[in-house]
Amino acid sequence: MGIKKVMVIGAGQMGSGIAQVCAMAGYSVTLNDLNEEFLNKGLGAIGKNLQRQVEKERISAAEKEEILANIIPNVELSAAENADLVIEAAVENMEIKKSIFTKLDEIAPEHAILATNTSSLPITEIAAVTKRPGKVIGMHFMNPVPVMKLVEIIKGLATEDEVYKEIEEMTLALKKVPVEVEDFPGFVSNRILMPMINEAIYTLYEGVASAEAIDEVMKLGMNHPMGPLTLADFIGLDTCLSIMEILHEGFGDDKYRPCPLLRKYVKAGWLGKKTGRGFYSYE
Ligand code: NAD
Repeated sequence: MGIKKVMVIGAGQMGSGIAQVCAMAGYSVTLNDLNEEFLNKGLGAIGKNLQRQVEKERISAAEKEEILANIIPNVELSAAENADLVIEAAVENMEIKKSIFTKLDEIAPEHAILATNTSSLPITEIAAVTKRPGKVIGMHFMNPVPVMKLVEIIKGLATEDEVYKEIEEMTLALKKVPVEVEDFPGFVSNRILMPMINEAIYTLYEGVASAEAIDEVMKLGMNHPMGPLTLADFIGLDTCLSIMEILHEGFGDDKYRPCPLLRKYVKAGWLGKKTGRGFYSYE
């Protein structure tokens, strides 16, 4: 049974991008969030993004309308009863994800695949709250979703090979590049990226150089398109901290200990671009 109807849970930065690329590939998409306000914010972001594509003459105005018509907003989880695939992109919190997956398992049809866009939480643990662990999988999109080519596909301990294949095919249909990864803390992307960001924060904390200087070294010296502290501000410092904690706990190795300065900023509510202040000011 092929995937035709997709439900996306969470209309934030990631969920809205995932809904957009699915709708652009012709899937019928239900976009779910806790209330109308969050949904409207997500739909607004999709509309703006598509409008930019019209202005750049990558799509026509009629195509934009067609894509938007493929996305149906919904605040009820019960809409999962029609889905072939659900992609969860709610907040990075294990208890919230477990609660969503428990409910989805009851509502979604037996054949439906339940995927999560988690950046770091174990797929196997999320799958274990369902009666279909073989149909649970990680589908880790990168931010911003419409631009970034990579999707890490993470197999939980029980994920069926057939389910992996279906998700791999769908990723190609979304014009993205799938990469197969096993279920270990941080997968590949964040196991390598986050310790680098954390080390950049230690470098700042120890007074080795200013934030600007650290970013400049990595941009000009290593050819990174943006410095690690700017990137941390874009990802969200709360997300960076929660990923470092998962690596620290998951491997039990102190080389992953989060920098005290990162903790301090998160406690202050300096979460990066989204709150107007992180390592840089965005006011
Ligand atoms: P976000 O805060 O922008 O969006 C999360 C959305 O989920 C919000 O709109 C919120 O209202 C909604 N939500 C919360 N609980 C919900 C529930 N029970 N039911 C339905 N909706 C709910 O966060 P984001 O940056 O889009 O991240 C979402 C997920 O994607 C996280 O698991 C995150 O780790 C992962 N991720 C993030 C990035 C990134 O760079 N930000 C990259 C890859 C993966």
